[in-house]
Amino acid sequence: MANDFILRNAVIAGRGEGTFDIAIRDGMIRDIAPRIASDALSEDAGGRLVVPGFVDSHIHLDKSCILDRCRIEQGTLQEAISQVAAAKRDFTEDDVYARAARTLEKAILQGTTAMRTHVEVDARVGLTSFNAIRKLAADYAWGIDLKLCVFPQEGLINDPGTEEMLVNACEAGADLIGGCPYADSDRSGHIDRIFKLARRFDLDIDFHLDFDLDPSWTDMADVCRQADAHRYGGRVAIGHVTKLSAMPPRDFEDWGRRLADAGIAVTVLPTTDLFLTGRDHDHNVPRGVTHVHRLASHGVTCSLATNNVLNPFTPFGDCSLIRIANLYANVAQLGDASSLCSCLDMVTSGPARLMNVEAYGIKAGHPADLVVLDCREEAAAVAEIVQPLFALKRGRRSFTRAQPTLHRPHQPAAPQCQSRTSSPCER
Ligand SMILES: [Zn+2]
Repeated sequence: MANDFILRNAVIAGRGEGTFDIAIRDGMIRDIAPRIASDALSEDAGGRLVVPGFVDSHIHLDKSCILDRCRIEQGTLQEAISQVAAAKRDFTEDDVYARAARTLEKAILQGTTAMRTHVEVDARVGLTSFNAIRKLAADYAWGIDLKLCVFPQEGLINDPGTEEMLVNACEAGADLIGGCPYADSDRSGHIDRIFKLARRFDLDIDFHLDFDLDPSWTDMADVCRQADAHRYGGRVAIGHVTKLSAMPPRDFEDWGRRLADAGIAVTVLPTTDLFLTGRDHDHNVPRGVTHVHRLASHGVTCSLATNNVLNPFTPFGDCSLIRIANLYANVAQLGDASSLCSCLDMVTSGPARLMNVEAYGIKAGHPADLVVLDCREEAAAVAEIVQPLFALKRGRRSFTRAQPTLHRPHQPAAPQCQSRTSSPCER
């Protein structure tokens, strides 16, 4: 059968030396070879790097872009939670949709093709955010696969009415359920209830966990025990786990082995962890970013993700996962090529595994979710925060970024509005 499109002359991440042609038909990758003879429409990647779509395993679309209605005075986790709790009483579906769409479009423009968004569900906001984000997921399916993780940000046991709302959201089609045990006085009870709800609706779980720097206790033991008891290995992720950054190496490595044995994946959220932790120090401020790449050596599925965008948890954000990988490499003091490649893995294949994304990666028979980066090597992508030039989502172009042009003074002046010839990466 005829191909729809050939992406030619591409360096493929993880495939070694040389360039390849990628044949696409009906949204799927059909063939990959050094040279594919075909008269289908084609585009020359010019020897640039092609990676599978970026995967953001942890973001909060529903509370993004609310800096104009919140204040940041202490910069602590508690302040962020209470500020958002107050703001979300005024959330409407239209408001959540508009802000979330703004953030989601940024992510698509950065080459993200799959995403897990946490959605707050409780007695204050009800299903308002859930309904808005569900509509968003349907409207933007052309550019990104968006999964909804409903969770109780302000607690479950201490927050009457929240469990009923979570049940409603699960019955209405939530993709998975999250927990936030540190928001409850009975953290163990919170974890227990989330596992029971997950079992009842057969959903994967994603906890916000151990978001502090006190190494004297941890909720990881409870999560590992429950995952074993419910045979939930491979279906549970934990996010932040800043506490691990405060543990001595032996304890850290012990937890790496226990998390691997229990099949618990870990997401580190560098921007929020850097912004909120260590606020009680006035010098030698701990950075609170767990060195998650060290857990990978034990077999833990590891991911770096965005978390919050333009709100009191993180008043920054361009939704670039390459920037997050670079930030992490900088904080974790990683600079060699192999380590930088592992950072790229943690925004591509790692989160894809964490989210149990099927048929992920640049292989024949997989969906044609591809991003062309303006570089030739994986390490350079992270080191230089390289810009994505365009992406294909199921074989269809989802965005194009024009390459910048230098206007050197000694060059013959060109009219400002003259149309330029299209680059190899535009069509
Ligand atoms: Zn989060």
